[in-house]
Amino acid sequence: MSDFEEREVGALRLRIDRTLCVGFGDCITEAAAAFVLDETGVAIFLAPETVEREQLLRACDACPVDAITVWNGDGTQIVPGGL
Ligand code: SF4
Repeated sequence: MSDFEEREVGALRLRIDRTLCVGFGDCITEAAAAFVLDETGVAIFLAPETVEREQLLRACDACPVDAITVWNGDGTQIVPGGL
């Protein structure tokens, strides 16, 4: 498993920085279909494409250590910070 996990979800690009994730699971609380903790207690993607966009963005933004970054279709970073 690499330090970064990336997914395209519609027009969004999502990245989990696994070196930052501390495994508290706030993202999973917000969107249990999108994220899961792996066997080492670090977040990975589950099925983020099944989660409605606003809920998915809220879940990414909920990360207390800003381990999840989201860019929109034109490359603008919208999480953290831009919601
Ligand atoms: S909210 Fe952030 S720190 Fe917590 S499990 Fe998700 S990615 Fe990891």
